[in-house]
Amino acid sequence: MKRIVSFFAALLVVAGCCSQKVEDVKNVIYLIGDGMGIGSVTTLLTLTDSCGFEMECPAIGLSETYSVDNYATDSAASGTALATGTKTNNGSMGMGPDGENLESILDVAEKLGKKTGIVVNLGVVEATPGAFYAYVKSRNEKYTIAEQMTGCGVDVVIGGGINFFNERPDSTDLIAKMKDDGYDIYTDWAEIATTESAKFIGLLPNEVIHRRNTTGAQASGDERGAACEAALMAADDGLVDLKDATIRPEEYLEKAVSKALGTLSRTSDNGYFLMIESGIIDGYNHNNDQEGLKAEMLEFNATLTMLVKYVSSHPNTLLVVTADHDTGGVGITYGDRAKEEMSLVYTGHGHTGNMVPIFAWGAGKENFRGIMKNSDIAIKIKALLNEQI
Ligand SMILES: [Zn+2]
Repeated sequence: MKRIVSFFAALLVVAGCCSQKVEDVKNVIYLIGDGMGIGSVTTLLTLTDSCGFEMECPAIGLSETYSVDNYATDSAASGTALATGTKTNNGSMGMGPDGENLESILDVAEKLGKKTGIVVNLGVVEATPGAFYAYVKSRNEKYTIAEQMTGCGVDVVIGGGINFFNERPDSTDLIAKMKDDGYDIYTDWAEIATTESAKFIGLLPNEVIHRRNTTGAQASGDERGAACEAALMAADDGLVDLKDATIRPEEYLEKAVSKALGTLSRTSDNGYFLMIESGIIDGYNHNNDQEGLKAEMLEFNATLTMLVKYVSSHPNTLLVVTADHDTGGVGITYGDRAKEEMSLVYTGHGHTGNMVPIFAWGAGKENFRGIMKNSDIAIKIKALLNEQI
């Protein structure tokens, strides 16, 4: 009987469109959309004919995001859950509810001898990236978070927030310290785009990494789907061509991720862990700015599409895409589809306790199907990395 069951189970695997050889997870790419709930994802799907979320055979799940002390989490508590596998109180970063320091996926990857990277389109000391390397009771302790970043051992960082490193109340020059520790430090995109360094920190001005125009100009008419088109023009290996070292804010995240990924994959024999945060979705949803959200999701899609393509041609690589929480309770309301009159409604300006989606591609993706706590995602990623050795 057992043999018969096994035979039919095998048939199902072979016949399924999503059948895939089980691979060890050597590399992990973790893409987090801050405030990107189901409504934000649905908005993107409605805007585009082709986008990363619709690629073939993802594993899809739902994440419960509540924190220990609140039905609606903040980014520090959810970042901690997503980074370490432990839920904590709102405001805490890298620490459990009793104040204990927690081990993040980045810590585990470093212990396993992997290269590590962080790419964000906000400050590198903000709550979501900070939860991967810092331990503070309050996310507002940004000067402390910056200091902890300099000693965390990460190999590649690209983001904003240079003032927390070189304009400090304690007068410490953390830029000089990081140089002494062997990092190349860049404050200009052209330097980042062209560097061959295996260990660098890129700290860019806000005007480089933020899309300043918050009107709907980039999210309407012929420009719909432009982000997907840009991604489809990526180089053969799946990454974006960076030979042109100029950059516009709306293409920053895709190019920065390409650079980090290229560096990590080129310099690591033992695999890598790359954490990425698209952090501005949250702000537009807080402001109930639906045109800003549409533009931001199109930019998110350019990065996502590039990553899906990259993972499909790089075995032993897992891509997990999720959000830290929903913001604004945004949803699509009645609108004439023939006239493409899509408009959104918000239930408020704050975070909500709504579940958020999980999408996984590549090696180990099957672990992310179903309903789970946000902390389970990190537990699963850690387990997959530890299984590899
Ligand atoms: Zn928020």
